[in-house]
Amino acid sequence: MTARIIDGKAIAAALRETIATRIAAQPYRPGLAVILVGEDAASTVYVRNKDRAAKAAGLNASTIRLPAETSQASLLATIQSLNDDPDIDGILVQLPLPPHIATDAIIRAIDPAKDVDGFHPDNVAALALGAPSLVPCTPSGVMHLLHAAGTNISGARAVVLGRSNIVGRPMAALLLAADATTTIAHSRTANLPDECRRADILIAAVGRANMVTADWINPGATIIDVGINRTPDGTLTGDVDFAAALPTAGAITPVPGGVGPMTIACLLDNTLLAAGRRRGSKAGG
Ligand code: NDP
Repeated sequence: MTARIIDGKAIAAALRETIATRIAAQPYRPGLAVILVGEDAASTVYVRNKDRAAKAAGLNASTIRLPAETSQASLLATIQSLNDDPDIDGILVQLPLPPHIATDAIIRAIDPAKDVDGFHPDNVAALALGAPSLVPCTPSGVMHLLHAAGTNISGARAVVLGRSNIVGRPMAALLLAADATTTIAHSRTANLPDECRRADILIAAVGRANMVTADWINPGATIIDVGINRTPDGTLTGDVDFAAALPTAGAITPVPGGVGPMTIACLLDNTLLAAGRRRGSKAGG
């Protein structure tokens, strides 16, 4: 048997289309402001892709580019003006920030109702309390993929490999909210392969190329590979040894073309949700 490949590119395209249709039905254009401080190469590409996708979906998107030497006070002032701007529904500060800026202080300064990255402590708390509001985009994208693939989540054993604030922890909270029996594994976990082998759903979000090998996989399991790693020859690879996993897994996401495209689609979805709530329409559902 060969695993079914979960086509994140196609699923994300369908989601973006649905979002575009919902935006077109609104009497206003939801506004998204993305702030990029400095010129980190990867961040510049991410921000350009977000801007393109947002505009294509019909959002009123703008990118604010600030020099790397921007002071924390000046960045806070920019955020405050976006918080106060009635045309702006979503604010995203691209991370990482230059080291002289305290990321925590910046995230806390964003109006939680406009925090489309879902990193503000109010939104983190809502998720932890089982009442998700604006949810981080990557784990939200993973949930979309699981639903689109028809994965049985309720009662399943889910293992999340990684416990970062942007992927692992919110991922585990979402799986728990969906009634999976959820384990979080990390660099101090004893006997990682054994933990992974118990998983009906395995989410790898570690950042180590091909770390998950075939013998870590429960036959028939659904494997979602969040990892994006650049190999010495310049190609991108996930945290899962895709070729080795194919004969054992039941379903699996490729890298690229799996989780990556979903992250941006979920950012658009969050912006629409935030706009609907702020403007009192049903746009965001
Ligand atoms: P972090 O580096 O913040 O977190 C990595 C996690 O993996 C940590 O919890 C760490 O454990 C754990 N870990 C590291 N090494 C091991 C190991 N050898 N065994 C077990 N656990 C280990 O990464 P992120 O969560 O930000 O990202 C994870 C991956 O996902 C990266 O490849 C990143 O590029 C990718 N990514 C992809 C996105 C997408 O859109 N597809 C979006 C965001 C991230 P500990 O806490 O103990 O240190």
